[in-house]
Amino acid sequence: MSRFDPAQAAARLPHPRRLRAFGPAPAGQVVLDGRIVLNASGNDYLGLARHPLLAERSAAWGAEFGTGAGASRLVSGTLAPHEAVEARVARFKRCEAALLFASGWQANASVLPALFAAADRPLVFADRLNHASLHHGCAAAGVRQIRYRHNDPGHLDDLLTARAGEAGTRFILTESVFSMDGDQADISALAALAARHDAFLYVDEAHATGVLGEGGAGLCAGVAGIGCVIGTFSKAFGSFGAYVAGSRGLRDLLVGACSGFIHTTALPPPVLGAIDAALDLMPGLGEARARLQHEAARLRTALAGLGIDTAGSTTQIVPAVLGGAEQAVLASERLLAEGVLAVAIRPPTVPNGASRIRLALSAVHGAEQVSRLIGLLPRTFAQDPPPPDCLPSGSLPPGRTAP
Ligand SMILES: *Cc1c(COP(=O)(O)O)cnc(C)c1O
Repeated sequence: MSRFDPAQAAARLPHPRRLRAFGPAPAGQVVLDGRIVLNASGNDYLGLARHPLLAERSAAWGAEFGTGAGASRLVSGTLAPHEAVEARVARFKRCEAALLFASGWQANASVLPALFAAADRPLVFADRLNHASLHHGCAAAGVRQIRYRHNDPGHLDDLLTARAGEAGTRFILTESVFSMDGDQADISALAALAARHDAFLYVDEAHATGVLGEGGAGLCAGVAGIGCVIGTFSKAFGSFGAYVAGSRGLRDLLVGACSGFIHTTALPPPVLGAIDAALDLMPGLGEARARLQHEAARLRTALAGLGIDTAGSTTQIVPAVLGGAEQAVLASERLLAEGVLAVAIRPPTVPNGASRIRLALSAVHGAEQVSRLIGLLPRTFAQDPPPPDCLPSGSLPPGRTAP
């Protein structure tokens, strides 16, 4: 018998991870080791995390309603701003109702188990590249996912058809913009499949909210036949928290049965103020959204010109898929040396052999900044010939030891 030792367990992790702290910087940039670098690894797609209107209203609502809600929603934590913001989010998403959550992770991790528990024998069909929080929701519910090939409605159709005779309630889980590939799901095709197979369609709009669709409302707004949409305020909305949008019945079910809503403190008023201010700004950001997509397209073209795979990206998320983890780390180090933060994404976040740098642009990145980044790409991905007497590691001749 031995006592559990977290330090030993940490040392055994297959993928140890390390935190680094960044100093304050203007939108679209970060300060690292005293140096300002371009942030090509953020999700603040519209630069709103630095917008004065959000900061002002956040402070104002904090002063008026308090810095904390003081309790969970069902006890005494529901304040007028919660209901006001929920009504605004429902209109924004063109849904009957919306409900606020502490985060997107918490929403997926707790809404899915609540839905599955209320359904008769859930049969869950999920895109293979869904976000970790969607997997977590399924795992927490003890549900085995039936995974379909990434962004392949035809494969999903086959799997649904193959199980057509089976009893149970069908669910389809997808993102609308995939976080690591930057490609878009065909929401209309998925909604049509859901209708044909009597399935409940659940869509995570984390990376589309604020960025795509009319007024930044995402790819689901106005599409009929979607059972539940979630999204976060932590990305293009520039603050924190998340929403679940759908029918009034969905909202009633979650208020009554979703542990991640019931047993947690209501969102704090300063966060609600920031969300409210971002909702004010959304209709006027069309030009910023268009510029963002234009610059992303330029970046993709440049990468394609170098023969780099961008994994079907059609959005502000532009991966440069390099394969091996070492190549991704090398590219990331080279860019950082030139003043660009582009973090290497490795397994298990992405599949083995699909390591990449995930370049994510923001509308606050000017054309000159993107041009500079593009100018760095040839050197970033150059395959330097190895120095003359350098042997591959692990093949040292006898008698020589590694330094
Ligand atoms: C970021 C993200 C989340 C989590 O949202 P948070 O509000 O940051 O917890 C959920 N789903 C997807 C697809 C995401 O990319």
